[in-house]
Amino acid sequence: MPSITLHLGREKSLYRRHPWIFSGAIGRVDGDPKSGETVDILDAKGNFIAKAAYSPESNIRARVWTFESAEDVDENFLRRRLDAAIKRRTSSTLSEGEGLGARAIRLIHAESDGLPGLIVDRYDDVLIMQVLTTGAEYWKETLADLLVELTGVPNIYERSDVDVRKLEGLEPRTGILRGNPPEKIILEEYGLKFNVDIAHGHKTGFYLDQSESRHIVGQLAKDRDVLNCFCYTGGFSIHAAAGGAKSVTSIDSSGDALALGRENAALNDQPAEIHEWIEGDVFRELRTFRDSRREFDLIILDPPKFAPTISQVKKATRGYKDINLLAFKLLRPGGILVTFSCSGGVDASLFQKIVAGAALDANVDAQIVQKLGQGADHPIALHFPESAYLKGLICLKA
Ligand code: SAH
Repeated sequence: MPSITLHLGREKSLYRRHPWIFSGAIGRVDGDPKSGETVDILDAKGNFIAKAAYSPESNIRARVWTFESAEDVDENFLRRRLDAAIKRRTSSTLSEGEGLGARAIRLIHAESDGLPGLIVDRYDDVLIMQVLTTGAEYWKETLADLLVELTGVPNIYERSDVDVRKLEGLEPRTGILRGNPPEKIILEEYGLKFNVDIAHGHKTGFYLDQSESRHIVGQLAKDRDVLNCFCYTGGFSIHAAAGGAKSVTSIDSSGDALALGRENAALNDQPAEIHEWIEGDVFRELRTFRDSRREFDLIILDPPKFAPTISQVKKATRGYKDINLLAFKLLRPGGILVTFSCSGGVDASLFQKIVAGAALDANVDAQIVQKLGQGADHPIALHFPESAYLKGLICLKA
């Protein structure tokens, strides 16, 4: 088997079971491995450490499949990994909550499930598969067959149209992988219905990672004037209206997302008068509200990743500070701010510091009453802290 020999001392992170091998750690590559092929990872003395998928163009040059020398990376290996991930979701409390039953759930969460580069969401009888790395790409057809076998779901749609594939030297790809999936479906979340555009929506069509938090926000919304910033297809807005909000104002820059948001309100028989949908830039709209002295009782900030990696942290920090500061100002006394960051480059403690700085500069007193995060079907591997990407705070303004 081809192999990668690491520089002396660069094996340490692997002994902590972190699955990434960066290009700078590599001393030598032997055996001319192809993109996505499995290679042995050896320490500087030639001792076996792991088997990993080779990614010649990426700075993350290899990703570990297994730390067991006796374990072959083949169809049976992938079947065991997929089966274990799916069983963890169906045999635990994860599927018992009324939220995400069998109808909508993340089945495979990449590194956290021991399957680097593979994301699989299940929406009823359709699987959406996202292939992010050369290793997952190398095994794509096998993975698709195994997913049909293990879930009994015949339809797979691929949404591998993400920028990170470029870093791996992979072209974007979308389309049918197995069966005959529809392009649009309706899924259910805590009893509410949502249109999902599988073919064109963001990510895999819906932000499943926020399901629980949307439910929590719904319960906070009664009799409140709600502002949902970065609303996408109205996830938090529909939950807030269902929870008895007095009014719900939703902002997004995407007209297509807002159109689905309106459809979602109708789908759930919510009176159109409750909802106001604004196509615009949140940074600008919040300033317009400030200047016109408009106020709210509950504000949700769920922006896109401002800092996908550490290098953009400074700029991202300014962005988070800006919107949180404005939100604190727009809240009435006793109002609630529900604020998120999904940036990998901004960890939980930095995010809390940014929000604290925003409150200070807005000259308001506030307290955190609850911390939020990604749902249980998006698990965080303890040896892979990067998987804890979604941070949320519920803050109460004095
Ligand atoms: N809260 C949503 C997910 C939000 S995703 C849910 O629960 O489904 C982030 C959204 O921000 C996307 O819909 C994107 O179109 C929008 N967006 C990105 N930058 C924006 C900006 N500057 N102003 C307004 N919307 C923006």
